[in-house]
Amino acid sequence: MIPADVSKTAARCRHYAMCKIDFLGTGLCPAGKAKRYVSYYPQGRMDLCHALAEGIVPVTPRLVDIASTCSLCGICDKQCHFVTGMRPLRVMQALNEFVSSYLSRGGQVASERPDPVLDSLRQIVGDEWATNDPAILLTYANDPFPLAGMKMPRCVVLPQTREQITATVRLANEHSIPLVVRGNGSSVFGIVFTDGIVIDTERMKGIRIDTDNWVAEVEPGVTSFELQKEASKHGLRVNAAEPAATVCGNIICTGMFSTWSNAYGVGADNFASMEFVDDGGRIFNLNERSAPNLFGFRHEVCTPPGICTRAWVRMHPTTDDEEGLLVPFSSFSEAASFAADLSRRRIGLAVGVLGGHYLSTFMSPSAELSERVRACLADTLGIEYMVFVVGDRHAREAIRKMVGTSIDERLMRSLMLGLPNLVRDEWTALLKGMEGAAPPYRTLLREEVRPVLELALSPSPETIALSVDADLREFYQELYSRPEMTNLRWLNTFRIVSSRMARHKHVFVIVLYVPLNKIGVIERLISELAGIADRHSISHDYGFLTPLDLGKRAVLEYDYYIDHTDPAEGGRIGAALVELDPMIEQLSADTKGVMWLKYIFSQGCSRKESFLYA
Ligand code: SF4
Repeated sequence: MIPADVSKTAARCRHYAMCKIDFLGTGLCPAGKAKRYVSYYPQGRMDLCHALAEGIVPVTPRLVDIASTCSLCGICDKQCHFVTGMRPLRVMQALNEFVSSYLSRGGQVASERPDPVLDSLRQIVGDEWATNDPAILLTYANDPFPLAGMKMPRCVVLPQTREQITATVRLANEHSIPLVVRGNGSSVFGIVFTDGIVIDTERMKGIRIDTDNWVAEVEPGVTSFELQKEASKHGLRVNAAEPAATVCGNIICTGMFSTWSNAYGVGADNFASMEFVDDGGRIFNLNERSAPNLFGFRHEVCTPPGICTRAWVRMHPTTDDEEGLLVPFSSFSEAASFAADLSRRRIGLAVGVLGGHYLSTFMSPSAELSERVRACLADTLGIEYMVFVVGDRHAREAIRKMVGTSIDERLMRSLMLGLPNLVRDEWTALLKGMEGAAPPYRTLLREEVRPVLELALSPSPETIALSVDADLREFYQELYSRPEMTNLRWLNTFRIVSSRMARHKHVFVIVLYVPLNKIGVIERLISELAGIADRHSISHDYGFLTPLDLGKRAVLEYDYYIDHTDPAEGGRIGAALVELDPMIEQLSADTKGVMWLKYIFSQGCSRKESFLYA
């Protein structure tokens, strides 16, 4: 039996695949690293444990192997806690115990279902890398998107070369079998499921850095984190998305966007070329004149142009004086105007307007602390939004001259390491006593007040580690002793703390391109998105806004949060979508520059000019 509370934890896996990258320097799950199918990674084991509790997967040869390859090393407990606050090690223990108890009671292990298509797939990729074992299939059959049901594939295949992908596509065509491709995790929008063949690109991890041409040639299994790590070894940077997302998948799906898009652009700005295998199994390169025109954009939901087998991603130079800076604001309009001004003046590389939810969640190692930090920022300090910038020393000097108050790397490190003290009642009561017309942060963050602030915060890895479970404190102390863990430039380059944004619930992301010269329109949009969520009792929050193309446009993220294990919440999202669609469509028809990312899905290779100014 799987205990009910363990099954509940297992069901809460968000499928963000952070357990498939070594983002904390703990090493990777050894079983996943060796066996490569998602079922062997902690994410897959969570799905399997829940499925066993629900009785929807039999004990199979692969399930026995999955259980036997987990050493209970505990790496996943640390990784998952950092991102979601969950402790999956109990799930891993329960899964192992279930299988060993089943076997010791003489339980039968289901045998493989014969399938000639599987035999052909094995001839293409080798016996190990194609299977129809239900314990593998199950972990490719669903994701946390509440409006998509489970769809069990017929086979899962892990090719290693472009030629193996081509042969798989041709085989699928020959037998009229549907086929989808996936990289890490899943789309979290229910669009990578099939009852046919799933191609998992996990074994295609090649990266070749070409410094002469400023491009990195990447295979489709490479994640943003892995590519950024390679680029940074050469003092370079790519405009990458969520750390566990695959680079090729992200470019095709939505086009790359991040706070770095202020300087590096979106869509086709981010790559020099891409190579695809089309539906007929033919290979084409986007820079060939005879290639399908994927740089254009159609205002409709499109299907993917094929399977990306390589991308030549643009890399950008960095300077050794880059640092982060935060500028606090009491209102969205002031913050957005300032961000637009920076973009117009070409000041800063990464620029973003962050709200209280993101700021507090990214800074805090626990959900409980995050709630208190958010209240402290808004109620005590008067900070509702911050403009976040990474820039060289000239950019930061210019910004300091433009604003009265800012938070530099050193102060931010103190704030992060002293967070449990920042939210202490007696300290916040003292700050509340700083009455006056100006928001309290203006006084508190003054240069001459810093020694007092430092004293009160007592910032250290030991202080921040007090906010997590006692048995994790030593690990968190060691983690936060590393300078990069509080370094704004590093954190924004690798984006590992932004994965915390869905710590309390699965996130349903709404991304729109918006006209940054019409801040009233953006505010109306935010208000409408909030209103729809409120009417359907969905928790929601502002995400971020990043200026694009010299402040003419911006990308806006607004987030709805749902418990994907609660069918009632799924129903509420469904009802909200019915209202979202016409509201955004109308705004888009009325206002140049409003474009829902929904229409850019599968058209991420488009030139930005074709959707920002259409
Ligand atoms: S405890 Fe098991 S599942 Fe978790 S990282 Fe270690 S081997 Fe992988």
